[in-house]
Amino acid sequence: MDVATIMQNSHRDSRWQLSTRLVHAGERLAAAPGLPTVHPISMSNTYVAPPEVMDEILGGAPGYTYGRHHNPTVDALTHAMAGLEEGEAALAYASGMAAIHAALAAMELGPGDALLLSRDLYGASLNLVDQLLCPLGIQAETADLTDLAAVEALLSRLRPRAMLFELISNPLLRILDGPALTELAHRYGARVIVDNTFTTPLLARPLTYGADLVVHSATKYLGGHGDAIGGILVTRPEFYETLYRQQKLLGTILGPFEAWLIHRGLKTLDLRFRRQCQNAQKLAVRLADGDHFLAVHYPALPSHPESGRLSTFFPGGEAGAVVTLELDGGKERVFRFLKALQLVVPATTVGDVYTLALYPAMASHRSQSPAERRAMGITDGMVRIAVGIEALEDIAQDILQAASA
Ligand code: PLP
Repeated sequence: MDVATIMQNSHRDSRWQLSTRLVHAGERLAAAPGLPTVHPISMSNTYVAPPEVMDEILGGAPGYTYGRHHNPTVDALTHAMAGLEEGEAALAYASGMAAIHAALAAMELGPGDALLLSRDLYGASLNLVDQLLCPLGIQAETADLTDLAAVEALLSRLRPRAMLFELISNPLLRILDGPALTELAHRYGARVIVDNTFTTPLLARPLTYGADLVVHSATKYLGGHGDAIGGILVTRPEFYETLYRQQKLLGTILGPFEAWLIHRGLKTLDLRFRRQCQNAQKLAVRLADGDHFLAVHYPALPSHPESGRLSTFFPGGEAGAVVTLELDGGKERVFRFLKALQLVVPATTVGDVYTLALYPAMASHRSQSPAERRAMGITDGMVRIAVGIEALEDIAQDILQAASA
């Protein structure tokens, strides 16, 4: 800062007593030229501006007034995400679930309206619809969305307002044909919401083929380091006004520190995610070769139902960074496996730099009854491995020794 600006700032405070200066000193200083290279964390819940300017901002002009409406650090992240997803507008939420809720709320569903959901959606997304929307008279149906003929029949019968799906399902890793589903849904007047968490913008950008809203749990690959919880929603201006109005009312905006962490995570997403996908592919091949597991699920394995069309879905050759294993046995066997792990972290998430193991029957699909899980193809011996960036050999060795425990 130049001397003139320093003098100007210190003279500003000198007329007040020490107790007053302690409260105000150092704040709202005249800015000196020079932009920070990295967008700073803006920890302020209000903003000051001349009343005429404040009046304009509160009336909809760009600018900052109150942290529940907008925050510069959050805006830096949403700007980045809108560009990466090739959308026009993005919002950031306190969690992925808050983003999914926002996407559904933007559909302005009323009693008698219907929703079509992928059968193997993330468990909490199914619970959200079941526990918050169905009691309001909204009808929700789940279906296997890999069967396009059945989807068309369902769309024609149900006439849903919206369809929600993930492109790589969890934990069975089935791959959905996003462009075909979007085209079908639109033909029957349904909006399309895609949860792009497992695919990231590196494998899929659903807005480019016409999806209406894309949501992310930014807690996963986008943040990537196991520290922040957050959600992102990317869309077109058509939905933005409703979403922004609802976010302001509900106060679901992401905090600035989390926004900063997730924005920093984006910088290495390409390096981390590609390495994770390569590790996952090699790990799946390695684990499928032998009799340690009843089954190994990974989209690039020849045994996977969509392996033949993989290059159509993901032309880059990567097929996600999750491998699902089936142990011979139930809960006790899985607990023994989880306790024997020495490197792989048994924790309920995906997308971190370190490899993680999750037991779907206990965690992500805990709210589904055993019968519901069986209908979804989720067995009691199933373990989901979210592959990290460690050396492949160390990950493989740890899983193999735990499987022999
Ligand atoms: N969508 C998917 C695919 C997820 O796996 C998760 C969390 O595991 C969520 C949404 C919810 O995200 P969050 O935990 O950030 O609320």
